[in-house]
Amino acid sequence: MPRDPAAALSQRRRELEEELAALAPPRQERGVQPQFGKRAGDHIAESADLMVRAHAATALRQLLGEVEAALERLRRGEYGRCEVCGGEISPARLEAVPWAARCIGCAEVRHR
Ligand SMILES: [Zn+2]
Repeated sequence: MPRDPAAALSQRRRELEEELAALAPPRQERGVQPQFGKRAGDHIAESADLMVRAHAATALRQLLGEVEAALERLRRGEYGRCEVCGGEISPARLEAVPWAARCIGCAEVRHR
């Protein structure tokens, strides 16, 4: 287990929030006219970029949710216990993934 899981989790949460903020689509200026003289490919490139950002934001938000759930478990004194089998999550696993909600055995079952 990390020596200070609360600090590790809080820091991760802060990093994720910053990454999410950086991913937010550029603010659309109101009343902008369609730009003539842009090459046809520009719009497609922008759409693809928005999709990549949206996918990345979804993944970040999911991870952020896991980190917040781990902080909640910490507050309830349930940190380090597998949410599926109730067993202890190994310290090495918590060291690598402080927000892990399942022991390695249950986590592997989910991916099968
Ligand atoms: Zn388990």
